[in-house]
Formats: sequence, structure tokens, C-alpha cells
Amino acid sequence: MAKKAVVEKEYTVEDKLSTLYQLQSMLTEIDKIKTLRGELPLEVQDLEDEIAGLETRLNNYQTEIKDYDASVVAQKNKIVEATGLIERYKGQLDNVRNNREFDNLSKEIEFQGLEIEFAEKKIREYGDASAAKKEEITTLAENLDGRKADLVQKRGELEEIVSETKQEEEKLREKAKKLEATVEPRLLTAFKRIRKGARNGLAIVYIQRGACGGCFNKIPPQKQMDIKLRKKVIVCEYCGRILIDPELAGVEG
Ligand SMILES: [Zn+2]
Repeated sequence: MAKKAVVEKEYTVEDKLSTLYQLQSMLTEIDKIKTLRGELPLEVQDLEDEIAGLETRLNNYQTEIKDYDASVVAQKNKIVEATGLIERYKGQLDNVRNNREFDNLSKEIEFQGLEIEFAEKKIREYGDASAAKKEEITTLAENLDGRKADLVQKRGELEEIVSETKQEEEKLREKAKKLEATVEPRLLTAFKRIRKGARNGLAIVYIQRGACGGCFNKIPPQKQMDIKLRKKVIVCEYCGRILIDPELAGVEG
């Protein structure tokens, strides 16, 4: 019942405009909070993506090292095999029947010797490559640890801010609701409609240097005078926002 009495109270246009401006300020504050809260999860998401990327690279490096290790084993096997062959051929050298057999065996022994040298060279190369990768892994792992620590911190911050801003938003919403109850329904509907259509969510703006504070189009002097009188609800002819004078908005003209 008390509420009804409030609604029925006669408000001047100036009162109405002032209330709408207060309401606008609260809603803008809520909009800002929502934007802020919306951006924070993105920061966390970016960090998570970065960490996933680093982990993938780390896994790839580890796979490469395993491949190098496997290649080294393969080359070592070749050496064992070639060494075995050389020993066998050397044993056969003692029993050759002619020069051709001797030459063939000598060539085989030489060839296997080259195979061993080649395998040893390969082993050195794989070893160097593997050592370089391991160094990269050390750097990468440090980087990864750092980013993970950042993520823990960011997540903590996010949770804190989300709960804080939710409380703040809740309080503002309650205040805005109380204020809305004092605005006549027709005006409130118009206000909400303008706000919805405005890109920055501003339905009521004050004049800034002779221009609309929403779309920044110039306002004719006569209209500026009318706005200053606060006797009528006047809207911007370009953007449709409700216009007030800076003093009513509590700012210096
Ligand atoms: Zn405008």
C-alpha cells in the first residue's frame, strides 16, 4: 500500500528526469560490472590455451627425444652387426684360395668399416640433437611452470572478483528496482526502450558543449534553453535519447 502512495505522489518533470538519470547511472554501473566479469574469464581462457599449447610442444619434444634414442639404438645395432661381419671376414682371410677372394673380403671389411664410421657419426648427431632438445625442454618446462602459477593466481582472482561483483551487482539491482518503482510506468517503458536501442546503453544523457551526450549531434540553442527549464521531457532528434542539462546530472556545464 505504501508503494502505491509513492507512485501516486506528484512528481515534477525535474524530479522525474533526475530519477531517470540516477537510474541510468546505476544501470550503467551494472553494465560495467558485467563487462568486467565477462572479460576476466577470457584472460583465464587465454592462459589455459597457452598452457595447453606449451604442453603439446613439450610432449612433441619428448617424442622427438625418444625417436633420437631409438635411432641411436638402431645405429649401435648396425655397429654390432658390422663388427661381427668384420671379424668373420677377417677369419675367412686366413683361408682364402685366391687373390680374388682376398680382394672381395678386403673390400667387404673396408665397407663394413665405413658403415661403422657412418653409424658413429650418426650417433653423435642424434646425441647432439637430443641434448639440444633437452635444453629446450628445460626452458619450456620453466616457462610452463610459470604460466601454471599465473593461472592458479588468475583463477583465484577471477573467483574473488566474480563473487564480489555479483554482490555489488545484486545491491545495485535492488536499488535500481526501488528507484524504478517511483517512475511512472509509461516513462519507464520509454526509458527502457531507448536504452535497449542505444549502443552504449544510455537512455538519458546530458548536454555536452551544446551537443547530445549520446550521439554528439549539435542541439539548437532554443532546445537547449527548453532543456534547461526542466519542464518537459525532451529527446534528441537524432538518437532519441532523453536530454538533460549538465547541472541536473550533477556535473559542471
Ligand atoms: Zn543524440
